[in-house]
Amino acid sequence: MNLRNIPAIDEILALPRIEDLLKLYNRDFIMRILRQAVEESRQELRLTGGDYSKENLTEKIMDRLEILLEKASQGTLQKVINGTGVVLHTNLGRAPLSNRALGYLNDMGRNYNNLEINLESGERGSRYRHVEELLITLTGAEAGLVVNNNAAAVLLGLTSLARNKEVIVSRGQLIEIGGAFRIPEVMKESGARLVEVGTTNKTYLSDYAEAITENTALLFSAHTSNYKIVGFTEEVMLGELVKLGQERKIPVMHDLGSGILTDLREWGLKDEPTVRESVESGADIISFSGDKLLGGPQAGIIVGQKKYIAAMKKNQLTRALRVDKLIIAALEGTLLEYLSGNPLENIPVLKMLTISPEELQEQAEKLRAEICSKQGTMREIEAISVIKTEDMIGGGAYPTHKIPGYGVQIAFKNNQLEKLSKQLRGMNPALLIRKQEDKMLISVRTLLEGDARILVELIEMGLLRAGEEQGPGGKL
Ligand SMILES: *Cc1c(COP(=O)(O)O)cnc(C)c1O
Repeated sequence: MNLRNIPAIDEILALPRIEDLLKLYNRDFIMRILRQAVEESRQELRLTGGDYSKENLTEKIMDRLEILLEKASQGTLQKVINGTGVVLHTNLGRAPLSNRALGYLNDMGRNYNNLEINLESGERGSRYRHVEELLITLTGAEAGLVVNNNAAAVLLGLTSLARNKEVIVSRGQLIEIGGAFRIPEVMKESGARLVEVGTTNKTYLSDYAEAITENTALLFSAHTSNYKIVGFTEEVMLGELVKLGQERKIPVMHDLGSGILTDLREWGLKDEPTVRESVESGADIISFSGDKLLGGPQAGIIVGQKKYIAAMKKNQLTRALRVDKLIIAALEGTLLEYLSGNPLENIPVLKMLTISPEELQEQAEKLRAEICSKQGTMREIEAISVIKTEDMIGGGAYPTHKIPGYGVQIAFKNNQLEKLSKQLRGMNPALLIRKQEDKMLISVRTLLEGDARILVELIEMGLLRAGEEQGPGGKL
């Protein structure tokens, strides 16, 4: 080993190969990555104790530099193929968008648009009017407003209607969602005073009624979407709460979590009320996410009575929580699909949830056959079969609900799974799989168009790399 043979940065910078790279990449970027390449080569030399001439090392560093530059210039946000069978995966960006939403997004992103101008009068318009009519039509509410996400929607609702006043919530609904959204914390942030009633498993209407004082501004009901209490439970129906609110002249806010616009009971999804049902129950303000079961971009949608929505629009906080034109475009495109398209077919999340088991089985068989057709891959495979899977909705909805699906289960020789799944995560696109009893499981429900073909190539490449990794003495 001879660390002194590592060339100095200045020497490398004088090379003609650097000149070529300067045509492709930003100079500071090359400098940063070059230091990384040199450092990595130094570490490797220490580790392997190899003996190389200066020319040899320079070439190695340059090769490494080129690879690292190409990789780093691809950006950090990258495509992931979701083989987990979890449809709404918060870590994977929740809902993939429909073509209609993407078309709108593309068109409005590359052009000027009428975001805040009334083209009829030529005067200033509101960005919020673009989706409001659609929301009214699709939910039956009087008015609507869109902000950054549902957490923001809840915060805005509480601040606008209950700042320095009391909000009554059942102890069974003091939930935390996605690690960061906690009802009691949001309540504190909003300046509203939380009044807890009932117990974790049982809350009665009388609990709410007895807690009402002259300072009560809001009755709050949260859909406990990411957990379920089973056993002896008692929850007040939204309709009953609304009746109490009307009697005592106190508005009811319903945090629905997942904003579902179409009835999916036929597909076995029974526990989630639609937004329209919440409106019909008489809730005064209803909030939900744009990127859960609605299948659109991240957004917090608020619908309800006009006077409350108007109060929220006037709140200064709305300016800080406002949505960008791209979000409005993607949301409008998504909602238009509900209005005049075929949401169950064209909105990916809904398609994934309503696809028939027969179709999934067929897809899984096809995937299996495709993997089997790759000779190189087959050498490493001990067994491969199509099996039934338990897929999940995820994203804070239907916690206990498993959807029966199909997938391809692969057992590899030499316990390669751990290495392989790491390799698969490191590729671009990356592939996320499920592990089950030391076997790889790829659920086909969450594969999007074209994913299956790429996936086969990724596995092939991953096996190759995992094999190299464990080759004799490791490879430089
Ligand atoms: C998911 C969820 C939220 C948070 O919504 P985001 O859009 O992720 O901010 C709030 N309340 C409930 C009941 C939820 O399910």
